[in-house]
Amino acid sequence: MKILICSFIDNNALCEQTAKLVNAAQIFGGDIDILCVGHNISESIKTNSFQGVKSHIIADNPKYIAGNAEYIADLLLHISQVYDVIIAPSTTIWKNILPRFAALCDIMMMSDVIKIDDINTYHRPIYAGNATAKISNMQSKKIMTLRTASFQPMNHAPLQGDVILSDFVPEQLHHTTFISQELSKTDRPELTSAKIVVSGGRGVGSADNFKIIYDFADILGAAVGASRAAVDAGYVPNDYQVGQTGKIIAPDIYIAVGISGAIQHLAGMKDSKTIIAINKDPDAPIFSVADYGIIGDLFDIIPQLMQEIKAK
Ligand code: FAD
Repeated sequence: MKILICSFIDNNALCEQTAKLVNAAQIFGGDIDILCVGHNISESIKTNSFQGVKSHIIADNPKYIAGNAEYIADLLLHISQVYDVIIAPSTTIWKNILPRFAALCDIMMMSDVIKIDDINTYHRPIYAGNATAKISNMQSKKIMTLRTASFQPMNHAPLQGDVILSDFVPEQLHHTTFISQELSKTDRPELTSAKIVVSGGRGVGSADNFKIIYDFADILGAAVGASRAAVDAGYVPNDYQVGQTGKIIAPDIYIAVGISGAIQHLAGMKDSKTIIAINKDPDAPIFSVADYGIIGDLFDIIPQLMQEIKAK
C-alpha cells in the first residue's frame, strides 16, 4: 500500500500538522511519502522529516504560491496515480484543493476524518460535531482530509530515503492568477498549533476591550482566538474565529472568556484537553463542557488572574 501525505510549505518547515498525518497514516501499514508543495521551498525540508516516512516529493513552482487550488489539484492528479491513500490536513488551503482533486479523479472524498479504524472504516463529525458518523468506504483509492486536532504528532527524525523533485509543470489556467496576499502578522503562537489559547467573545464588549485578552494571552504565551460574535462585531479579524465555521483546535488549555458556548463554538474547541470558562452567567452552556469554571465579571477576574500568574 502506498500513502501520500500532502503538506503545503509556506514557512520553510514541515509543520506539526504533517507530523500528525504521518502518525495517523501508520494504521495503514504501507509506505508513506510526503508531498511538499509550495514556492521557494528551502533546503531544510530535504533534511528534516518524521519517523516512518519513506520519501519526499518536492513540487516547487510559483503557481503553487498561496496554495492556489487549481494548480495543486492538477499536480496531485499527475503524481497520485500510484497511491492508494491520499491524506491532507483539514486546513483552509487543503479544504479548497482536495475536493477539486477528488472530482478530477471521480472519487468521493471524506472530509474532517477524526478517527481511522482500518483502510475501509472512518469516523467524521456531523451536525456541527453533535454526532459522529462511522463511514464505510470501499473505493479502491481513498482521498481524505484529517482533523489534526484528533491525532498525536509523530516524532521528528532526520530524512532518510529519497527526495524526488516533481517534473510536473503546471499549465497556465486563464481564469486563475495569483496577484497578492495580505497575511496578518503576530508574534503570538499560531492559533491551530498553540498549546494554550485564550478566546474572547461578545462579552468582551469592544475591540478596545480586547486588549485585556491580548495581555492575558501574552502572560501565558498563548494564542488569541474569538467567537464568531466577537468577529462579526469587528473586535478581532476573522482568522481568529474558533468554531464550526472557523478554526477547529484542541490545545492543552482553552480559556473561553465572555463566550456563551453555542454549539457552533463548541464544535471548534470541545476536544481541548482542559477547558476553563470565565462568564458572569452561571447558566452559560460553556460551563457544561468546562473543566474549570469561574463565574464573574471578566474585567474583575482577568486582572486578578494576571496578578497571581505574575507573582508566581
Ligand atoms: P454570546 O452568545 O452573546 O455570549 C456572550 C457571553 O458573554 C454571555 O454568556 C454573557 O454571559 C457573557 N458576558 C457578557 N459580559 C460579560 C462579562 N463582563 N464578564 C463575563 N462574561 C460576560 N460561533 C462561533 O463562535 N464560531 C463559529 O464557527 C460559528 N459558526 C456558526 C455557524 C452557523 C451556521 C451559525 C448559525 C452560527 C455560528 N456561530 C459560530 C454563532 C454561534 O451560534 C453564536 O452566536 C456565537 O458563538 C456567540 O458568540 P458569543 O458566545 O461570543 O456571544
